[in-house]
Amino acid sequence: GDVDFKEKLKFSQHLKEKAEAVSDFAKSKSLSQQRQYLPIYTVRDGLLGVVRENQVVVVVGETGSGKTTQLTQYLHEDGYTRTGLVGCTQPRRVAAMSVARRVSDEMETVLGEEVGYAIRFEDVTCRNTKIKYMTDGVLRETLKDADLDKYQVIIMDEAHERSVDTDVLFGILKKVAARRRDFKLIVTSATLNADKFSKFFGGAPVFHIPGRTFPVNILYSKTPCEDYVEAAVKQAITIHITSGPGDILIFMTGQEEIETACYAFAERMKQLISSSTKVVGKLSILPVYSQLPADLQAKIFQKAGEGTRKCIVATNIAETSLTVDGILYVIDTGYGKMKVYNPRMGMDALQVFPCSRAAADQRAGRAGRTGPGTCYRLFTESAYQDEMLPNPVPEIQRTNLANVVLLLKSLEVENLLHFDFMDPPPQENILNSMYQLWLLGALNNAGGLTNLGWKMVEFPLDPTLAKMLLMGKELGCVDEVLTIVSMLSVPSVFFRPKDREEESDTAREKFFVPESDHLTLLNVYLLWKSNEYSVDWCNAHFLHFKGLQKAREVRSQLVDILNTLKIPQTSCHREWDVVRKAICSAYFQNSARLKGVGEYVNCRNGVPCHLHPSSALYGLG
Ligand code: ADP
Ligand code: MG
Repeated sequence: GDVDFKEKLKFSQHLKEKAEAVSDFAKSKSLSQQRQYLPIYTVRDGLLGVVRENQVVVVVGETGSGKTTQLTQYLHEDGYTRTGLVGCTQPRRVAAMSVARRVSDEMETVLGEEVGYAIRFEDVTCRNTKIKYMTDGVLRETLKDADLDKYQVIIMDEAHERSVDTDVLFGILKKVAARRRDFKLIVTSATLNADKFSKFFGGAPVFHIPGRTFPVNILYSKTPCEDYVEAAVKQAITIHITSGPGDILIFMTGQEEIETACYAFAERMKQLISSSTKVVGKLSILPVYSQLPADLQAKIFQKAGEGTRKCIVATNIAETSLTVDGILYVIDTGYGKMKVYNPRMGMDALQVFPCSRAAADQRAGRAGRTGPGTCYRLFTESAYQDEMLPNPVPEIQRTNLANVVLLLKSLEVENLLHFDFMDPPPQENILNSMYQLWLLGALNNAGGLTNLGWKMVEFPLDPTLAKMLLMGKELGCVDEVLTIVSMLSVPSVFFRPKDREEESDTAREKFFVPESDHLTLLNVYLLWKSNEYSVDWCNAHFLHFKGLQKAREVRSQLVDILNTLKIPQTSCHREWDVVRKAICSAYFQNSARLKGVGEYVNCRNGVPCHLHPSSALYGLG
């Protein structure tokens, strides 16, 4: 009744003051004062002491305690960068870029000078760089240069994510630590599986950063929900109308869903504003996913205008990698996308899965960073208890290992089945990947790298793409294949806005090369080139300029590698069949036979497959 309402009002006022205090803090305090306010600051000296005394240290702390942004700076301040680099790996590209920018701001330097980052196809560092953020994939790739000697300290951040690259690095860095006594390794983790890491590194000490979190009230769905996108939008709108200030964070599985949700939000808000007699506050909807351009991603950190509530719609990227202050409400759909290897098809596929209990708890925790929060779980309590796995399955146990096998072979690891994996992948997956590499011609009958295999290792590409490129050399169409490979290495360049689908589809169809999506990509690039790489031309033809530009950059980096390998850029001068041969030599495992109208079967394993509606072949047969 009445009392209840007053209590609620009081509480929401309290939250409002809290939220304001926090944002005022961010506004009024200098960056160096903000640094001193982080939980990790109170244990700075103790932490540096433990690092001095031990070669490997596991650091555990709540998300947002300052691990990623502060550890590197502390090590720098303590003199470690006098003798080498301080490197910090991230499982996600976005995190590497955004954190490097933040740290270079905090150190009042220009990004790319003392503080820099490197992700695949993008190196923003220089000779003076002391602190280098990078994806774990980039570090893994540089291993072949025995480049690691440049590093004095390596921080393996977000180790709990257990990406394949992190897992491979674990095994390799353990050996480096044994060989180089001066080398330091720090492993950080947000959740509490730190003991496992400690054990793997021979009982390394675990350092806990004291947390500063508020309680989160968790509410479950009473019944399983049928359409969680719809349900999430509804829940967020309800919060917006009925609850006190505080930003909202929604977890969804991927870009498409997020875009659908954002669209639904815009519609709902329009309806509300026109139909409601009451004043509805402003709601700023901010999507975040890994393929979103960096400038749009940065928006989630910006303060919303006066009286505006932020509602961030994110993938699991916001689970631990990015921390946004001021979130008091979390809506968790309970799902996430995972890369899973399907041995029958011989391919990795991104699939939607229920997330683990650990992930759900981590998501809920995001609501309690600046004040007591609420988490709305769009799944039932019994689903949480009985259906969700306690922890996610490490990526290495569920994905294609061709890349890993190729790398370990090039590092002359004799027996892959005996490599020091924290959680060894299923033997079947290793053998399957070896078989695939053998089919591609990268491994010989004895399981050693062939000449082709050694060359494939040089390219930061999946083995199939590397093979395509190298076959281009044999067939005399390097120039064409190079473009195709570059276009395949960036997100789709076709722009398909929600309310102009037909128009954009028509524009896309104009680029079609009958019977080939790969040649269609080549065609797009060539036309863009003959239009002086113009932005306007892209806009007029529903193409993402930034995507094409990225493809152009990737291309020029691959050219550098080709040059060092002394492979000339031959061209087949529009003799498309030559290019088709190169494509087939790499993707023959995906070849399929036409069976009925629009129905195919894979030639190797008989798995039925269909054409994607966006394909140039769609509707042809
Ligand atoms: P942890 O790694 O322990 O999760 P971080 O070091 O990432 O913590 O974050 C510490 C603080 O720095 C957080 O309050 C976060 O909001 C802030 N921060 C991190 N990155 C950025 C950024 N790109 N822009 C603004 N603030 C940031
Ligand atoms: Mg972090």
